[in-house]
Amino acid sequence: MLQPASHKKFRSVRKPRRGLPLFVGLFLGLSVLTAAVVTGKSSLAPAAQAQEEAEPFGVPYRGEILPAVDMHLHPGSYKSLGPLGKAFILDALPEFLPDFLKELSLRASSSLLQNPYGAFIGIKNQCLKSGFRKCGLFAVHAPETWGVVGPETIQDWLEDKKNINPNTGELLYFGLTTVDMTDWEQHAEARLEKLERELRTPYFKGIKLAFIHNSIPLDDPQYDGIYEVAARTGAPVYHHVGSSPLRQLDDFGSDEERERYIRSYDPQGLERAIAAYPNVTFIMGHMGFDFNQEGFAFDEVVFELAHAYPNTVLEVSAFGGSIYDPDGRYKDNVFRRIKEEGLLPRTIYGSDGPGAPGGIGRYLNEVLPSIDRVGYTVEEARMLLNDNSTRIFRL
Ligand SMILES: [Zn+2]
Repeated sequence: MLQPASHKKFRSVRKPRRGLPLFVGLFLGLSVLTAAVVTGKSSLAPAAQAQEEAEPFGVPYRGEILPAVDMHLHPGSYKSLGPLGKAFILDALPEFLPDFLKELSLRASSSLLQNPYGAFIGIKNQCLKSGFRKCGLFAVHAPETWGVVGPETIQDWLEDKKNINPNTGELLYFGLTTVDMTDWEQHAEARLEKLERELRTPYFKGIKLAFIHNSIPLDDPQYDGIYEVAARTGAPVYHHVGSSPLRQLDDFGSDEERERYIRSYDPQGLERAIAAYPNVTFIMGHMGFDFNQEGFAFDEVVFELAHAYPNTVLEVSAFGGSIYDPDGRYKDNVFRRIKEEGLLPRTIYGSDGPGAPGGIGRYLNEVLPSIDRVGYTVEEARMLLNDNSTRIFRL
């Protein structure tokens, strides 16, 4: 019933890397911070600890303090990135800096920023400071792009005794596991067994997949075994839908290659599986947002799927932001439609952080004014921020 989007026209002019200001800021800020930490002369430590204990619990909205969940966070390190991820970040730093200096600084800064228990700007400190009661850590297996942070690594972090929210006495982190999709034919059986074992532990509440980061079409039926595991275990499946800044359509040599690549993030490709597995929850990550602004936004397709299939969930991370939506118009429109079209009971909040120091709270502080502008009541905000995730992930 859904019409495939037209994939005929491709941009021929390369867009500038849009993450540039972010990464330059990150680099400069973290270089200073790293120097302070390395020399042991930082005066931030006692203040940061005191702040963690003193913060009131919850997210303020229209005079109330609401419980909240950020289900979408990426722990890891510079070292765990794949070659395209490293090149993307290095590319965004000032050209005059020698590569070894860029690498050194990124290694040091990411060891704080992307570490779940990193000092000052680490994920836990950011989550607590922003008032979240629970935060989801994503495993990733995309060797060419965002790299590999395996379920074993995530589980180590989840089992750590520091995995506690001092405001609630409950675990702060839960995990979304993933599956190695490469050389699938030879390894499918063993990997599906491993996936099912992980989902039967108390640690993993869902499966994170990014066909785009492995350049695999979303409609490839050979991965249906993953949905069968999801159906057996009740685990929701998170799909990244929408383009990715790591690869642009101009990077491909022919229209045929571009068509194939678009199939890796056009959510239309999921319709067959969504219909075939009505008991599996399909989460539309980023709602089809076109991060490259190449003319292939799939938010309309996501809305159509959400209306047609009750087993779809919308996830609102990373679109907007100072880079993509400086005046908040895009977010206002999306949040208004979600409310007006009755999709709010199936919409969940995530940031896609940390990204940069303070990034977890920064995104929240863009979303809250947006939902306020389009008239979300306190109850509706609570559904978006907390209740839906709690129900869907059984937190
Ligand atoms: Zn993400």
